[in-house]
Amino acid sequence: MKKINCDIIKDVLPLYLDGVVSNATKDMVEEHLRCCDSCRKEVEILKQDIIIPTTKNIQLSEARIFKKLKVHFWKKNVFVFVSTMIATILLIIGLHSYAILTETCIPYDDEIIRIDETDGKLYATYQEENLGGTVSLVPSKVTINGKEKNITVFYYYETPWSKYIQPFWGKDDFKNTFYLGDKDDIDQIYYGEFELDGSEINYANIAGNSKLIWGD
Ligand SMILES: [Zn+2]
Repeated sequence: MKKINCDIIKDVLPLYLDGVVSNATKDMVEEHLRCCDSCRKEVEILKQDIIIPTTKNIQLSEARIFKKLKVHFWKKNVFVFVSTMIATILLIIGLHSYAILTETCIPYDDEIIRIDETDGKLYATYQEENLGGTVSLVPSKVTINGKEKNITVFYYYETPWSKYIQPFWGKDDFKNTFYLGDKDDIDQIYYGEFELDGSEINYANIAGNSKLIWGD
């Protein structure tokens, strides 16, 4: 009797596990399983056949998706990092160029801009910490009111760098002195921004925009 029951149970077990049997069959199978080791083992084998490969497949495909996402995010991170680096470098170059190249003429102030004579040579001296540089013209011949005169013109300029950043280095007693020319070769010294017409000296332009600070 038990032997026959086991064969019948094993025939319906796949349907039972799929949950498509009637309640009467289900009760019968469960009552039999409670007291039959052989059929319980059959149930375990059937469950493994069905469930384990499915789980493995899911795990494998999930692993593949995560691997793809990982590569995707890694590529994205590298792109963001490189872009940020390039943008930062360009910004620094831009700020530095602006700070160095934006030259503004420093207005004349006889407290900080001086002309000194030593052994027949003339020197200009600037005594502040914000000096960016100097522009000067070699002594040149011009005609003023019918008379030939040798003039020179110069100006000091500051840059955002020299004005705001350089003072942090705090040079005490800062002094910039440069040689203008021999006293015998210079009749007048002007201070101010000037422009040349090509290589020509435009005296009217210099006299109009600059201040006579030495000579007559
Ligand atoms: Zn059985």
